[in-house]
Amino acid sequence: MRATVMHGAGEVRIENVPDARLIEPTDALVTVTRACICGSDLWPYKTMPHSDVGRRMGHEFVGVVEEVGTAVRTVKRGDLVVAPFAWSDGTCVFCREGLQTSCLHGGFWGGTDFDGGQGEAVRVPLADGTLVVLPVERDDALMPSLLTLSDVMGTGHHAALAAKVGAGKSVAVVGDGAVGLCGVIAARRLGAERIFILGRHPDRIALARRFGATDVVSERGDDAVARVRELTGGLGVHSVLECVGLDQSMSTALSIVRPGGAVGRVGVPQEPSIPASLPSFFNNVTIAGGPAPVRAYIDALLPDVLAGRIEPGLVFDRVIDLDGVPDGYRAMNEREAIKVAIHL
Ligand SMILES: [Zn+2]
Repeated sequence: MRATVMHGAGEVRIENVPDARLIEPTDALVTVTRACICGSDLWPYKTMPHSDVGRRMGHEFVGVVEEVGTAVRTVKRGDLVVAPFAWSDGTCVFCREGLQTSCLHGGFWGGTDFDGGQGEAVRVPLADGTLVVLPVERDDALMPSLLTLSDVMGTGHHAALAAKVGAGKSVAVVGDGAVGLCGVIAARRLGAERIFILGRHPDRIALARRFGATDVVSERGDDAVARVRELTGGLGVHSVLECVGLDQSMSTALSIVRPGGAVGRVGVPQEPSIPASLPSFFNNVTIAGGPAPVRAYIDALLPDVLAGRIEPGLVFDRVIDLDGVPDGYRAMNEREAIKVAIHL
Protein backbone atom coordinates (compact mmCIF):
# COMPACT_ATOMS: atom_id res chain seq x y z
CA MET A 1 0.00 0.00 0.00
CA ARG A 2 1.02 3.65 -0.32
CA ALA A 3 1.54 5.99 2.60
CA THR A 4 3.18 9.25 3.64
CA VAL A 5 6.70 8.96 5.06
CA MET A 6 8.69 11.90 6.44
CA HIS A 7 12.43 11.54 6.11
CA GLY A 8 13.47 14.88 7.55
CA ALA A 9 12.69 18.58 7.54
CA GLY A 10 10.94 19.38 4.28
CA GLU A 11 11.31 15.76 3.10
CA VAL A 12 7.87 14.23 2.72
CA ARG A 13 7.39 11.33 0.31
CA ILE A 14 4.65 8.97 -0.75
CA GLU A 15 6.11 5.47 -0.62
CA ASN A 16 5.18 1.83 -0.88
CA VAL A 17 5.04 0.35 2.62
CA PRO A 18 3.98 -3.06 3.98
CA ASP A 19 0.20 -3.56 3.80
CA ALA A 20 -1.69 -2.78 6.98
CA ARG A 21 -3.03 -6.01 8.50
CA LEU A 22 -4.60 -7.40 11.63
CA ILE A 23 -2.08 -8.48 14.28
CA GLU A 24 -3.97 -8.63 17.58
CA PRO A 25 -7.51 -9.98 18.00
CA THR A 26 -8.54 -6.50 19.23
CA ASP A 27 -7.44 -4.83 15.95
CA ALA A 28 -9.49 -3.50 13.07
CA LEU A 29 -8.21 -2.91 9.56
CA VAL A 30 -9.49 0.39 8.18
CA THR A 31 -9.26 1.66 4.61
CA VAL A 32 -8.79 5.41 4.81
CA THR A 33 -11.27 7.56 2.86
CA ARG A 34 -10.42 11.00 4.30
CA ALA A 35 -7.38 12.26 6.15
CA CYS A 36 -5.65 15.57 6.68
CA ILE A 37 -2.46 17.38 7.58
CA CYS A 38 -2.19 18.81 11.08
CA GLY A 39 -0.44 21.92 12.36
CA SER A 40 1.49 19.60 14.68
CA ASP A 41 2.83 17.72 11.61
CA LEU A 42 4.60 20.95 10.76
CA TRP A 43 6.94 20.75 13.78
CA PRO A 44 8.83 17.72 12.39
CA TYR A 45 8.44 19.22 8.91
CA LYS A 46 10.49 22.17 10.15
CA THR A 47 12.98 20.40 12.42
CA MET A 48 13.25 16.61 11.94
CA PRO A 49 16.82 15.36 11.40
CA HIS A 50 17.25 13.22 8.30
CA SER A 51 16.23 9.57 8.70
CA ASP A 52 16.62 6.89 6.03
CA VAL A 53 13.89 4.80 7.63
CA GLY A 54 11.59 7.78 8.01
CA ARG A 55 8.50 8.31 10.05
CA ARG A 56 4.94 7.36 9.01
CA MET A 57 2.68 10.40 9.20
CA GLY A 58 -0.94 11.29 9.87
CA HIS A 59 -3.14 10.98 12.92
CA GLU A 60 -6.51 12.20 11.67
CA PHE A 61 -8.66 9.94 9.52
CA VAL A 62 -12.05 8.61 8.59
CA GLY A 63 -12.36 5.27 6.86
CA VAL A 64 -14.22 2.03 6.24
CA VAL A 65 -13.69 -1.07 8.38
CA GLU A 66 -12.46 -3.88 6.11
CA GLU A 67 -11.82 -6.59 8.67
CA VAL A 68 -11.92 -7.01 12.45
CA GLY A 69 -10.11 -9.28 14.89
CA THR A 70 -11.97 -12.03 16.73
CA ALA A 71 -12.27 -9.98 19.94
CA VAL A 72 -13.76 -6.85 18.36
CA ARG A 73 -17.39 -6.24 19.30
CA THR A 74 -18.47 -2.65 18.55
CA VAL A 75 -17.41 -2.19 14.93
CA LYS A 76 -17.87 -4.49 11.94
CA ARG A 77 -16.87 -4.80 8.32
CA GLY A 78 -18.40 -1.99 6.24
CA ASP A 79 -18.79 0.52 9.09
CA LEU A 80 -17.69 4.08 8.39
CA VAL A 81 -15.59 5.19 11.36
CA VAL A 82 -13.67 8.17 12.68
CA ALA A 83 -10.46 7.61 14.63
CA PRO A 84 -9.25 9.95 17.38
CA PHE A 85 -5.57 10.96 17.18
CA ALA A 86 -4.75 8.46 19.94
CA TRP A 87 -5.97 4.92 20.33
CA SER A 88 -7.24 3.69 23.69
CA ASP A 89 -8.85 0.65 25.28
CA GLY A 90 -11.86 2.50 26.67
CA THR A 91 -11.73 0.44 29.85
CA CYS A 92 -8.72 1.43 31.94
CA VAL A 93 -8.85 3.84 34.88
CA PHE A 94 -7.93 6.88 32.77
CA CYS A 95 -10.27 6.02 29.91
CA ARG A 96 -13.13 5.71 32.40
CA GLU A 97 -12.23 9.18 33.66
CA GLY A 98 -12.41 10.50 30.10
CA LEU A 99 -8.66 10.94 29.67
CA GLN A 100 -8.07 8.51 26.81
CA THR A 101 -4.78 10.20 25.84
CA SER A 102 -3.36 8.73 29.07
CA CYS A 103 -4.78 5.25 28.42
CA LEU A 104 -2.61 2.63 30.10
CA HIS A 105 -2.64 0.60 26.87
CA GLY A 106 -2.99 3.40 24.35
CA GLY A 107 -0.70 4.98 21.82
CA PHE A 108 -0.37 7.30 18.86
CA TRP A 109 -0.46 6.73 15.11
CA GLY A 110 2.56 6.76 12.87
CA GLY A 111 6.24 6.89 13.74
CA THR A 112 8.26 3.78 13.00
CA ASP A 113 6.04 1.09 14.54
CA PHE A 114 2.49 1.96 13.49
CA ASP A 115 0.51 2.98 10.43
CA GLY A 116 -0.28 6.66 10.02
CA GLY A 117 -3.53 8.19 8.82
CA GLN A 118 -1.96 9.73 5.70
CA GLY A 119 -1.95 6.45 3.82
CA GLU A 120 -4.26 3.98 2.15
CA ALA A 121 -5.01 1.83 5.20
CA VAL A 122 -4.39 1.63 8.93
CA ARG A 123 -4.18 -1.16 11.45
CA VAL A 124 -6.24 0.17 14.38
CA PRO A 125 -5.25 -1.29 17.77
CA LEU A 126 -7.94 -1.59 20.46
CA ALA A 127 -10.67 -0.96 17.90
CA ASP A 128 -13.54 -1.17 20.40
CA GLY A 129 -12.16 1.60 22.57
CA THR A 130 -10.85 3.71 19.74
CA LEU A 131 -13.22 3.87 16.77
CA VAL A 132 -16.56 5.64 16.60
CA VAL A 133 -19.09 4.61 13.94
CA LEU A 134 -20.45 7.51 11.87
CA PRO A 135 -24.14 7.25 10.95
CA VAL A 136 -23.68 8.67 7.43
CA GLU A 137 -22.50 7.57 3.98
CA ARG A 138 -18.83 7.93 3.11
CA ASP A 139 -19.36 10.96 0.82
CA ASP A 140 -21.78 12.80 3.09
CA ALA A 141 -21.61 16.59 2.86
CA LEU A 142 -20.80 16.69 6.57
CA MET A 143 -17.62 14.67 6.07
CA PRO A 144 -15.19 17.61 6.48
CA SER A 145 -16.72 18.50 9.85
CA LEU A 146 -16.84 14.84 10.91
CA LEU A 147 -13.14 14.52 10.08
CA THR A 148 -12.32 17.39 12.48
CA LEU A 149 -13.62 15.22 15.34
CA SER A 150 -10.41 13.20 15.00
CA ASP A 151 -8.41 16.13 16.32
CA VAL A 152 -8.84 19.86 15.75
CA MET A 153 -12.46 20.31 16.88
CA GLY A 154 -11.90 18.15 19.95
CA THR A 155 -8.64 19.94 20.64
CA GLY A 156 -10.28 23.37 20.41
CA HIS A 157 -12.97 22.10 22.76
CA HIS A 158 -10.32 20.83 25.18
CA ALA A 159 -8.62 24.24 25.19
CA ALA A 160 -11.94 25.88 25.99
CA LEU A 161 -12.70 23.45 28.83
CA ALA A 162 -9.18 23.82 30.26
CA ALA A 163 -9.59 27.62 30.09
CA LYS A 164 -12.90 27.29 31.99
CA VAL A 165 -14.95 28.94 29.27
CA GLY A 166 -18.57 29.35 30.24
CA ALA A 167 -21.66 31.49 29.88
CA GLY A 168 -20.94 35.20 29.97
CA LYS A 169 -17.16 34.80 29.99
CA SER A 170 -14.68 36.82 27.96
CA VAL A 171 -12.32 34.63 25.94
CA ALA A 172 -9.21 35.22 23.88
CA VAL A 173 -7.89 32.74 21.34
CA VAL A 174 -4.15 32.86 20.65
CA GLY A 175 -3.45 31.18 17.31
CA ASP A 176 -5.45 31.45 14.10
CA GLY A 177 -4.71 27.95 12.77
CA ALA A 178 -7.36 25.24 12.52
CA VAL A 179 -7.23 24.51 16.27
CA GLY A 180 -7.59 28.18 17.22
CA LEU A 181 -10.51 28.54 14.83
CA CYS A 182 -12.15 25.45 16.32
CA GLY A 183 -11.45 27.01 19.72
CA VAL A 184 -13.62 29.94 18.66
CA ILE A 185 -16.41 27.49 17.77
CA ALA A 186 -15.99 25.76 21.13
CA ALA A 187 -16.01 29.03 23.09
CA ARG A 188 -19.18 30.16 21.37
CA ARG A 189 -20.77 26.75 21.88
CA LEU A 190 -20.00 26.94 25.62
CA GLY A 191 -21.68 30.32 25.90
CA ALA A 192 -18.82 32.83 25.88
CA GLU A 193 -20.04 36.39 25.62
CA ARG A 194 -17.01 38.00 24.01
CA ILE A 195 -14.45 36.15 21.93
CA PHE A 196 -11.22 37.84 20.87
CA ILE A 197 -9.23 36.28 18.05
CA LEU A 198 -5.58 37.23 17.87
CA GLY A 199 -4.53 37.12 14.24
CA ARG A 200 -4.22 39.11 11.08
CA HIS A 201 -4.59 36.81 8.09
CA PRO A 202 -7.80 38.01 6.32
CA ASP A 203 -9.14 34.51 5.46
CA ARG A 204 -8.59 33.26 8.99
CA ILE A 205 -10.13 36.35 10.57
CA ALA A 206 -13.18 36.07 8.33
CA LEU A 207 -13.63 32.44 9.37
CA ALA A 208 -13.16 33.31 13.05
CA ARG A 209 -15.90 35.92 12.77
CA ARG A 210 -18.18 33.43 11.06
CA PHE A 211 -17.51 31.00 13.93
CA GLY A 212 -18.43 33.61 16.54
CA ALA A 213 -15.42 35.83 17.26
CA THR A 214 -16.64 39.25 18.34
CA ASP A 215 -13.32 41.15 18.39
CA VAL A 216 -10.21 40.95 16.22
CA VAL A 217 -6.80 41.87 17.62
CA SER A 218 -4.34 42.07 14.74
CA GLU A 219 -1.50 43.64 16.71
CA ARG A 220 1.39 41.41 17.80
CA GLY A 221 3.40 40.91 20.99
CA ASP A 222 3.17 43.74 23.53
CA ASP A 223 0.82 45.70 21.28
CA ALA A 224 -1.61 42.78 21.21
CA VAL A 225 -1.49 42.58 25.00
CA ALA A 226 -2.15 46.33 25.30
CA ARG A 227 -5.06 46.09 22.86
CA VAL A 228 -6.79 43.23 24.71
CA ARG A 229 -6.33 45.06 28.03
CA GLU A 230 -7.75 48.24 26.54
CA LEU A 231 -10.78 46.35 25.23
CA THR A 232 -11.41 44.73 28.63
CA GLY A 233 -11.25 47.81 30.84
CA GLY A 234 -7.64 47.02 31.73
CA LEU A 235 -8.55 43.70 33.38
CA GLY A 236 -7.80 41.05 30.77
CA VAL A 237 -10.03 38.12 29.79
CA HIS A 238 -11.41 35.27 31.89
CA SER A 239 -10.17 32.56 29.57
CA VAL A 240 -7.32 32.23 27.09
CA LEU A 241 -7.02 29.38 24.59
CA GLU A 242 -3.32 28.96 23.76
CA CYS A 243 -3.28 27.09 20.46
CA VAL A 244 0.30 27.59 19.25
CA GLY A 245 2.87 26.27 21.76
CA LEU A 246 5.64 28.84 21.34
CA ASP A 247 7.19 30.81 24.18
CA GLN A 248 5.88 34.04 22.65
CA SER A 249 2.29 32.79 22.38
CA MET A 250 2.32 31.49 25.96
CA SER A 251 3.72 34.82 27.17
CA THR A 252 0.94 36.64 25.36
CA ALA A 253 -1.65 34.28 26.84
CA LEU A 254 -0.37 34.82 30.38
CA SER A 255 -0.29 38.59 29.85
CA ILE A 256 -3.92 38.91 28.75
CA VAL A 257 -5.59 36.59 31.25
CA ARG A 258 -7.19 38.39 34.17
CA PRO A 259 -6.50 37.54 37.83
CA GLY A 260 -8.31 34.33 38.73
CA GLY A 261 -8.60 33.42 35.06
CA ALA A 262 -7.40 30.35 33.21
CA VAL A 263 -5.18 29.53 30.27
CA GLY A 264 -5.99 26.34 28.37
CA ARG A 265 -3.00 25.23 26.36
CA VAL A 266 -3.21 22.75 23.52
CA GLY A 267 -0.34 23.86 21.30
CA VAL A 268 2.48 21.35 21.79
CA PRO A 269 5.07 23.32 23.86
CA GLN A 270 8.27 23.96 21.96
CA GLU A 271 10.12 25.17 25.07
CA PRO A 272 10.93 23.22 28.25
CA SER A 273 9.46 25.76 30.69
CA ILE A 274 6.39 27.95 31.01
CA PRO A 275 7.10 31.70 31.02
CA ALA A 276 5.73 34.30 33.47
CA SER A 277 5.79 31.99 36.49
CA LEU A 278 5.79 34.86 38.98
CA PRO A 279 2.97 37.05 37.58
CA SER A 280 0.76 34.02 36.98
CA PHE A 281 1.35 32.99 40.60
CA PHE A 282 0.42 36.38 42.03
CA ASN A 283 -2.63 36.57 39.74
CA ASN A 284 -3.89 33.13 40.75
CA VAL A 285 -3.98 32.06 37.12
CA THR A 286 -4.86 28.46 36.32
CA ILE A 287 -2.67 26.92 33.64
CA ALA A 288 -4.14 23.69 32.33
CA GLY A 289 -4.38 21.64 29.17
CA GLY A 290 -2.45 19.07 27.20
CA PRO A 291 -3.26 16.55 24.48
CA ALA A 292 -7.03 16.52 24.11
CA PRO A 293 -8.87 13.29 24.91
CA VAL A 294 -10.82 13.73 21.69
CA ARG A 295 -12.29 10.23 21.98
CA ALA A 296 -14.24 11.47 25.00
CA TYR A 297 -15.44 14.58 23.18
CA ILE A 298 -16.75 12.87 20.05
CA ASP A 299 -19.86 11.84 21.97
CA ALA A 300 -20.57 15.46 22.92
CA LEU A 301 -19.64 17.08 19.61
CA LEU A 302 -20.98 14.57 17.07
CA PRO A 303 -24.66 15.50 17.58
CA ASP A 304 -23.85 19.18 16.99
CA VAL A 305 -22.01 18.35 13.77
CA LEU A 306 -24.80 16.04 12.53
CA ALA A 307 -27.40 18.73 13.28
CA GLY A 308 -25.34 21.44 11.56
CA ARG A 309 -25.09 23.50 14.75
CA ILE A 310 -21.32 23.72 14.32
CA GLU A 311 -19.35 23.59 11.04
CA PRO A 312 -15.71 23.02 11.93
CA GLY A 313 -15.12 21.46 8.48
CA LEU A 314 -14.92 25.00 7.11
CA VAL A 315 -11.29 25.08 8.31
CA PHE A 316 -10.37 22.94 5.29
CA ASP A 317 -9.51 25.29 2.46
CA ARG A 318 -7.68 22.85 0.20
CA VAL A 319 -8.33 19.29 -0.97
CA ILE A 320 -5.62 17.04 -2.36
CA ASP A 321 -5.09 13.36 -3.14
CA LEU A 322 -2.34 11.18 -1.67
CA ASP A 323 0.17 12.26 -4.32
CA GLY A 324 -0.50 15.87 -3.37
CA VAL A 325 0.56 15.39 0.27
CA PRO A 326 4.14 16.70 -0.06
CA ASP A 327 2.83 19.91 -1.62
CA GLY A 328 0.10 20.02 1.03
CA TYR A 329 2.78 20.16 3.74
CA ARG A 330 4.51 22.95 1.88
CA ALA A 331 1.26 24.91 1.53
CA MET A 332 0.41 24.63 5.22
CA ASN A 333 3.96 25.41 6.28
CA GLU A 334 3.92 28.58 4.17
CA ARG A 335 0.48 29.45 5.60
CA GLU A 336 -0.93 29.36 2.10
CA ALA A 337 -3.59 26.93 3.37
CA ILE A 338 -5.26 26.82 6.79
CA LYS A 339 -5.80 23.06 6.72
CA VAL A 340 -5.42 20.55 3.94
CA ALA A 341 -7.83 17.63 3.45
CA ILE A 342 -6.70 14.43 1.76
CA HIS A 343 -9.27 12.47 -0.25
CA LEU A 344 -8.35 8.86 -0.93
ZN1 LIG B 1 -7.49 3.14 28.57
